[in-house]
Amino acid sequence: MSQCIFCKIARGESPADVLYRDEQLLVLKDINPQAPVHLLVIPVEHYPNLQQASANSALVSALIKKCTQLGSELGSQGYRIVVNTGPDGGQTVDHLHIHVLAGRPLQWPPG
Ligand code: 5GP
Ligand code: ZN
Repeated sequence: MSQCIFCKIARGESPADVLYRDEQLLVLKDINPQAPVHLLVIPVEHYPNLQQASANSALVSALIKKCTQLGSELGSQGYRIVVNTGPDGGQTVDHLHIHVLAGRPLQWPPG
């Protein structure tokens, strides 16, 4: 996906604060953080959303494993992982990404 911002970041064509990468996934800091810790875990390969990636169980498992690892390392009092999906879900970037939020008490329900 040549114009997708997260594909561009994965290819190294757009700048980002990338904390980790391997052949399957990247971890980057969100450009507009909503908590002291706000990371995005994204697959290198373009999937528009979690629905489209769900058949790739090895990938989904790797993404969730990375999220829980980050959450347990960085969220001493807990953390939240979020996958916004589709317009009503609040998804604004159509490349699968999982938010990892921590570092402050998070409210519920979300808006
Ligand atoms: P969504 O609303 O789709 O669940 O989340 C998209 C997230 O991507 C938002 O939190 C937004 O701040 C973040 N974001 C959008 N563009 C960029 C970018 O170019 N770089 C980084 N690091 N984050 C971005
Ligand atoms: Zn993409």
